[in-house]
Amino acid sequence: MTVIPLLPIFHKLNRLFFDGSLVQESGPVVSVRWSDNRLKTTAGFYKRIKINGISRSEIVLSKPVLKDLSIVEIESTLCHEMIHAWIDRILNVKEIHGANFLMKMHQINSKQNNFQINIRHNFPVRRNQLKYEGKCSYCGEIYLYRKRLKNLACKKCCNLFFEGNWDQKCLIIFSNN
Ligand SMILES: [Zn+2]
Ligand SMILES: [Zn+2]
Repeated sequence: MTVIPLLPIFHKLNRLFFDGSLVQESGPVVSVRWSDNRLKTTAGFYKRIKINGISRSEIVLSKPVLKDLSIVEIESTLCHEMIHAWIDRILNVKEIHGANFLMKMHQINSKQNNFQINIRHNFPVRRNQLKYEGKCSYCGEIYLYRKRLKNLACKKCCNLFFEGNWDQKCLIIFSNN
């Protein structure tokens, strides 16, 4: 199954909501791509990685979660992740869904009626398969899983706060249902 190209949407959203700031002279400050078929626990994520001392950033959208949804859901997910990129690379602030995120989210939501961004990364799809709710003990993000897993850390927090390494501080805690 083919998926739509993300780069044109990225450029459109960058122009509309980020004053073009996510593209600089050297090119976009963050790359965007579709995941492979395994990323099923979240609709998308933003991460910063260091390669040979050079920082680069990447937004990955989940192909299995988003491929059957409409362009509106793809746009809102991409835009959500672009806010993370904007906070990290343009504002240079370490936060997840904090004050800057909420401010930008409300600004974008009030500027148009096409889509609404929220602070969740999940869509109510494939809930039958993903029935276990796990919450990051560091940022509070909720992920859905097919089964309970032990010693799982929040990918988002590992990427943003612990240089991509597993850290006990952001363990995923499963609820008891
Ligand atoms: Zn987020
Ligand atoms: Zn987290």
